[in-house]
Amino acid sequence: MFEFTEDQLAIQEMVREFSEKEIRPIAQDTDKNGSFPEKTIKELAEMGIMGLNIPEEYGGSGLDEISKAIVISEISKCCVSTAEIVAVHLLTNDIILRMGTEEQKQKWLPNAVEGKLGAFCLTEPNAGSDAGGLKTKAEKTEGGYILNGSKLFISNFGPEEGDHLIIIALTDPEKKTHGGMTAFLIGRDTPGVQVGKTEDKMGLRGAVVSEVILDNVYVPEAEVLGKPGDGFKIAMIGLDGGRIGIAAQATGLAEAALSEGVKYANQRLQFGKPISSNQGLQWYIADMGTRIEAAKMLMLEAADKRQKGEKVTKYAAMAKYFCSETAGYVCDLSLQLHGGYGYMKDYPIERMYRDARIMRIYEGTSEIQKIVISREVIKEYT
Ligand SMILES: Cc1cc2nc3c(=O)[nH]c(=O)nc-3n(C[C@H](O)[C@H](O)[C@H](O)COP(=O)(O)OP(=O)(O)OC[C@H]3O[C@@H](n4cnc5c(N)ncnc54)[C@H](O)[C@@H]3O)c2cc1C
Repeated sequence: MFEFTEDQLAIQEMVREFSEKEIRPIAQDTDKNGSFPEKTIKELAEMGIMGLNIPEEYGGSGLDEISKAIVISEISKCCVSTAEIVAVHLLTNDIILRMGTEEQKQKWLPNAVEGKLGAFCLTEPNAGSDAGGLKTKAEKTEGGYILNGSKLFISNFGPEEGDHLIIIALTDPEKKTHGGMTAFLIGRDTPGVQVGKTEDKMGLRGAVVSEVILDNVYVPEAEVLGKPGDGFKIAMIGLDGGRIGIAAQATGLAEAALSEGVKYANQRLQFGKPISSNQGLQWYIADMGTRIEAAKMLMLEAADKRQKGEKVTKYAAMAKYFCSETAGYVCDLSLQLHGGYGYMKDYPIERMYRDARIMRIYEGTSEIQKIVISREVIKEYT
């Protein structure tokens, strides 16, 4: 099993303490009211969490990939909506760090440390699993590009939420994912950027997800991320890290759901004894515990490899796939342990069950992860 360093353990303790004290008590209300946890994000920024993967020279905390996973996981144990906001923000920090020019880093990273949120805009109405279907166009003009189109289901972007956006757009429609896309890093106040529909979601109700409308948005060349034509590659590099982030969300949630299930099963009496004394239910608990440990190992291995600079596409996809499926499985069985009470909003497992559902969908569905994994595994074993 992974041995955390002293620094990683200290971060874990700090975030666990904060999450238990400040996030857990408001998680049910955040969900019920669909309220964006603005104050919590501000406090997390003050603690250095929103800039945790940004080097100290830009004001960040300069922490590693495992610390990032630990932080997301700890927050997720208390509130997945908050963990999602943090995870997407850290994904955008990561892309800016890896692909941005010095000027772009100086311009955006100190703001990101302060908690000014980043959004990652790939999905469109006709391009979900298939990024090759993108329609948003970036047409070359003097000194820059004109962007037109719309992006759907964009996290960290809302009527008042979101500061900067990474947008993947078509610069050469013939080439599509093979060099035909370019990534842009722009501010939300750029003329022509509008907020479209803000979604009313099943879960993650404290997080904000909206449509981004791009109406003749002029973007100077200096706001291209990486090189023109690198857009798809940049999105995939970002998603390697993002998928480990979802795996961390999922393992945190699964641990919390198991804890709720065991607590309930120990105190609920039926037939004159705690329901946890039934072997049938103990087997559920054994399966939940085993899958969680396996999920954590996959997730940490992917994070460790990314920290070491190794290619992690396969490991990130495996971790995202297995951990998100595990979160769904554990939340479902934990709800089963709760019986009818688990179906009611009085118990947090009802929220956890809904929050788990998205994990098998965003940043690439389970089916898409299996396409990525099988491609890599077949290459490896052929
Ligand atoms: C709450 C939320 C937040 C999100 N945040 C963001 C964000 O910040 N940025 C962003 O860019 N996007 C975001 N998304 C979009 C998300 O990544 C997509 O919804 C997801 O990739 C799936 O795309 P889709 O919804 O168009 O489904 P589709 O691609 O239409 O898929 C529908 C079904 O078909 C399956 N399928 C499709 N193709 C295949 C295939 N070849 N083989 C087998 N099965 C297949 C899928 O697995 C799925 O089960 C978010 C979505 C949600 C719901």
